Amino acid sequence: MNIHEYQAKRLLHSYGAPVAPGVAVYSVEQAEEWARKLPGPLYVVKSQIHAGGRGKGKFKELGDDAKGGVRLAHSVEEVVDNAREMLGNTLETKQTGPAGKQVNRLYIEDGADIDRELYLSILIDRATGRPAFVVSTEGGMDIEAVAEETPDKITTLPIDPVKGMTEADAKKLNRALKLTKQAAKDGLDLFPTLYKAFTEKDMSLLEVNPLIVMKDGRLRVLDAKVSFDGNALFRHPDIVELRDISEEDEKEIEASKHDLAYVALDGNIGCMVNGAGLAMATMDIIKLYGAEPANFLDVGGGASKEKVTAAFKIITADRNVKGILVNIFGGIMRCDVIAEGVVAAVKEVGLKVPLVVRLEGTNVDQGKAILNDSGLDIIAADDLDDAAKKIVAAVSEGKE
Ligand code: GDP
Ligand code: MG
Repeated sequence: MNIHEYQAKRLLHSYGAPVAPGVAVYSVEQAEEWARKLPGPLYVVKSQIHAGGRGKGKFKELGDDAKGGVRLAHSVEEVVDNAREMLGNTLETKQTGPAGKQVNRLYIEDGADIDRELYLSILIDRATGRPAFVVSTEGGMDIEAVAEETPDKITTLPIDPVKGMTEADAKKLNRALKLTKQAAKDGLDLFPTLYKAFTEKDMSLLEVNPLIVMKDGRLRVLDAKVSFDGNALFRHPDIVELRDISEEDEKEIEASKHDLAYVALDGNIGCMVNGAGLAMATMDIIKLYGAEPANFLDVGGGASKEKVTAAFKIITADRNVKGILVNIFGGIMRCDVIAEGVVAAVKEVGLKVPLVVRLEGTNVDQGKAILNDSGLDIIAADDLDDAAKKIVAAVSEGKE
């Protein structure tokens, strides 16, 4: 689960991290009212969307000459003008995709005088299986280019989760970021603070880009992007409250209501599978035969007919889906339950695209009989390989 920058900053501030005073607003009037309460003379007007790259983003409605999604303002009047231009418009950044995202909230922040822009993030390093800091002196809006062209400017420091973050670790980060004097002192406080927030709140990513050294030599969190581990949300009701579902994929929201593990993807073959490993293998084999999956979907082990029906409806509601592959290996999941769910869903929503079904395992004969007796136009498959070939062929025929 992701949250907005202003929410992330509020959370980090509650742990003691240095952030600028600021307030989230939903209207031009609020922007004016609150900007007057900030000290000035520099203000920053920041689009709040769940995507990075806002500074270099473009508002689709405003043309190429307009400024991006993060703007500096030198007076309350300028804050108001920018807020009027930005609110309600669609910001396209490298991370939003071509559709962009509508800006419905702005964060009005007290501006900082920047000396240096650094990069800092904490994530789970898969190589070591530990939380790791990733830092660079070359922070700011071009960090992707730094990672690509000069990866030696990026330092990774895994943290021993048993010992926790030590002063030696914090000093290593200070050295990697070339922090001295007051900034180094601030670093010794800030790095363990961020680590504490990361672990206590079960974050999967905490990215501060940029972390800045200000002209007065102090550190400040200037941007913050935080993602939480969805599997741990049950123990963080305060975090769940920060969810902004207008930023999420509608199909994923619907799936989460039914407790389905669903991830929307860009391809055109919808997949309904039981078991995450089998779902991954199914996506792989679709790609092997030259097509792209439209989703990851694991209906789980003990899915009911209702859950299967819900899953099928989510797949068919995706307009990109030009064919569906149901791949079930019945262990705990029974093939007849899947078959009943598919038949019920098709009766409700119809079937406009080819459907390939591969059933194997518990109650497979009953499952096949239910599908046969339903009179639905289903392409039966013998095994996974056969199923993938058949759905890819059916979808490419449809195109011609
Ligand atoms: P992003 O583009 O979505 O990553 O948004 P950021 O919050 O990182 O802001 C983009 C850039 O705007 C930063 O890298 C800074 O260069 C600039 N910026 C943001 N806040 C301030 C500020 O308070 N003062 C100054 N001078 N520049 C700022
Ligand atoms: Mg940034």
